[in-house]
Amino acid sequence: MFIDFHSHHDRQSPNLINLQTLHVTPELQESDLPNICSLGLHPWFVQGSSWEDAWINLKALANLSQVVVIGECGLDRNIDLPLELQIAIFKKHIELAEELQKPLVIHCVRAFAELIALKKDAKSSIPWIIHGFNKKEEVFQQLLKHDFYFSFGAVILSDLSPVIKAIATIPNGKFLLETDDRTDITIEQIYNRAATLRQVTIEMLQTQLIETYGKLTRLS
Ligand SMILES: [Zn+2]
Repeated sequence: MFIDFHSHHDRQSPNLINLQTLHVTPELQESDLPNICSLGLHPWFVQGSSWEDAWINLKALANLSQVVVIGECGLDRNIDLPLELQIAIFKKHIELAEELQKPLVIHCVRAFAELIALKKDAKSSIPWIIHGFNKKEEVFQQLLKHDFYFSFGAVILSDLSPVIKAIATIPNGKFLLETDDRTDITIEQIYNRAATLRQVTIEMLQTQLIETYGKLTRLS
């Protein structure tokens, strides 16, 4: 069994748990949701004040059992949306995730200091998982020290990837794998590469990641 922990696509296969991530709009309905999903307001798509209605809708949908993760949400310094507003919206996700006891999946670009400060402040009891992690070793070590979890994707396929050492050495139980928005790669490729770098068999990696997924989402 493969687990794609963060996917923007609807993929179905008997040996795949595809955790599909949806950006919530005011119009999104329960009947639109896949069997297993993650819901949040992505900072890229927050515009004007319509996010407030989307937020009300997210609160209404988030406690459904098919919503196993809150996000993606987070902080991005490369976009025009003011960081203060991004932080305010992210804090709402933190509170919601805490209230529902569901993990948070986080998008973070050039705002790791703010992210660490928010985690310290929140004294959160739920897992915070940084998806698509691709930063250098020093940032990785700092985040690991602050008890973040990681989801690695296409970036590990490259020999020049800054996270080669991270994926090779990260302790079991602290990471998952993903395809994110990519349609040109498969989760099997990511597993293959991760297994090679960690010097374990695919089967061993599969067993470990099922356990991690179960623990993080309290599904088992
Ligand atoms: Zn994503």
